[in-house]
Amino acid sequence: MQIILANPRGFCAGVRMAIDVVDQVVNMLPDQTIYVYHEIVHNRHIVARFIDRGVIFVDDLEDVPVGNIVVFSAHGISPQIRQQAQDRNLRTVDATCPLVTKVHSRAIRYAQQGYQILLIGHKDHQEIVGTFGEAPDQTQVVESPADIPNLNIIDPDRLVYLTQTTLSVDDAGKIIKALKDAFPKIKEPPTEDICYATTNRQTAVRQIAKHCDAVIVVGSRNSSNSVRLTEIAENVGTKGHLIDDVNELKTEWFPEGNEVIMLTAGASAPEDLVSEICRHFVESHKASLHLADIFEEKIEFGLPLTLKRLMEEHGIDHKNRRVHIEPPMITEAEYGSVPVALTISTELELS
Ligand code: SF4
Repeated sequence: MQIILANPRGFCAGVRMAIDVVDQVVNMLPDQTIYVYHEIVHNRHIVARFIDRGVIFVDDLEDVPVGNIVVFSAHGISPQIRQQAQDRNLRTVDATCPLVTKVHSRAIRYAQQGYQILLIGHKDHQEIVGTFGEAPDQTQVVESPADIPNLNIIDPDRLVYLTQTTLSVDDAGKIIKALKDAFPKIKEPPTEDICYATTNRQTAVRQIAKHCDAVIVVGSRNSSNSVRLTEIAENVGTKGHLIDDVNELKTEWFPEGNEVIMLTAGASAPEDLVSEICRHFVESHKASLHLADIFEEKIEFGLPLTLKRLMEEHGIDHKNRRVHIEPPMITEAEYGSVPVALTISTELELS
């Protein structure tokens, strides 16, 4: 069996930052209960690990006692939720990914300029709920081209589209094309809203999956970008399996025992779950590991302002603190073996 480890995979800078925020708040205030509005990131294991440390996740700010601390998740919130927190006198720490905030800012700006906004994404996803809330009277959500005939358009010359950051690039492209066909003067955002992490992880699957017998995506079922990775594998004709961890692997997925398997992870899945799967395959199937580098991600985000203020109040110096994302170090102890580097071109060179 051969395991092709995709690079990049797993944590993006926004997820890393959101997790670090909760981590730092919990460490800073060991005697207080910390509340988080919605799952901090869409991963079952990350949430369970914080619950074990006493964090309480809520879907309604009414469940946070007046005056307590609440962290807003990476997916962002609407102004209505921000107001509700203020009304309840909650101390808020905002872990919204800056790339989500960028889409919010665009929604506000275009709404002020009198545009109607067509927001491409999944209606119930927290990110879309948050962005929609910036200009609810001027925004309509478009989930598929089938929604276009039902849109209420006042002036087709005063339209702009925005997108959820974690969509499939291919699916979003189809919706954008349909919108442009229907409304040729629709304005495009100045740069792509789908974020670098989503795009890079999807490109890696698109390039590698076609050379493999199966694709395993580590991620939770409510993680939009993880689900998209599985769909992209299927789109290139390779069976994709989305699993939360090693316990969900099924032996019938690998009937020959000598398959070539791509292993990747959604942007909210921690790397220790990936390494556990590698160890499993090395031990049970004598698998060899191969590393396929598609993009080198070296991303850095600053800390959120609300966290910096809290740190200052507790005498913690944040001046040189940044959030870094670099490819994980692969050691034999963690992964069961050390991978051989692969060059991905038209054909994979597998030994
Ligand atoms: S997937 Fe993209 S937008 Fe979402 S948290 Fe990560 S970097 Fe930010």
